Amino acid sequence: DVLCIGHASFDLVFSVPHHPAADEKIVADALLACGGGPAANAAVTVARLGRKAGFAGYLGMDLYGERHLEELRAAGIDTRAVVRGSSPTPLSVVLVKPDGRRALVNHKGDTRPLPPQAFVPPATPARCILFDGHEPDLSEPALAWARTHDAATVLDAGSLHGGSEWLMFRVGHLVASEKFAAQWLGKNDPERALAALAERSPCVVITLGEHGLIWRRGAESGRLPAFPVEAVDTTGAGDVFHGAYAAGLAAGMDWPEMLRYASAAGALCCTRLGARPGIPSGADVERLLAG
Ligand code: ADP
Repeated sequence: DVLCIGHASFDLVFSVPHHPAADEKIVADALLACGGGPAANAAVTVARLGRKAGFAGYLGMDLYGERHLEELRAAGIDTRAVVRGSSPTPLSVVLVKPDGRRALVNHKGDTRPLPPQAFVPPATPARCILFDGHEPDLSEPALAWARTHDAATVLDAGSLHGGSEWLMFRVGHLVASEKFAAQWLGKNDPERALAALAERSPCVVITLGEHGLIWRRGAESGRLPAFPVEAVDTTGAGDVFHGAYAAGLAAGMDWPEMLRYASAAGALCCTRLGARPGIPSGADVERLLAG
């Protein structure tokens, strides 16, 4: 139903009493080691919500790549389009404080973007392709595929870089973070960014974390507050939101229903440490929606 194209990493998430200062040694209360990356997290979300998912991206031929690939396969994800190589799997170390604030260290290594020939057309008819902008050379063949197969296209625009800039006005759905909107506009004014982006895109959503989201679709626009939850760790909330959004599109949900569905999934992700353990099932989302 949904093909997710982009970044896969491995996350080491430590729950810590506070962020360490220079030369300070601290002890973590909990450690979580699992696959991460926006597109890979979104693919796991689609699968956990009960729809078919595929992932296209890079994983190194190392311990972390092996573990991540196993996780994707165990989740039932089509991994035919995963490319392995000798560059290390991107690794993230996340330190989460009790108040949920995070410090992050990312290592990307010397990973090169995958070439356009690495695009593998989805086996089962995909209704939606979700991009996180991190495999820019796969964008063109994937968009061409979507056009000929009448599939919806969604960009998870987390930050402004070459890959997301090229895609932002070529996809049907631009789902931007507050950070992306501010980088693109040159100042932090989500409402103005929304109006400006919507002049060039048929459908724009800007997610505002715990403040929910604002959207514009053709002549219509609106705002949706976040579902109130006890947030432990917001790592991955955006990725889960995007995965659920794509799953909702593939399922043919109508617009307000889809936004509520994706918001509920994003909120539930915040209730657990790390991204993957917090990814809800379809039943979890239905329960929150039913209130
Ligand atoms: P990103 O990680 O891409 O910046 P956001 O932080 O904006 O994404 O989160 C995406 C969506 O997830 C929000 O629009 C909201 O629906 C949900 N969400 C994020 N943080 C929270 C939170 N603390 N409480 C409830 N929902 C949240």
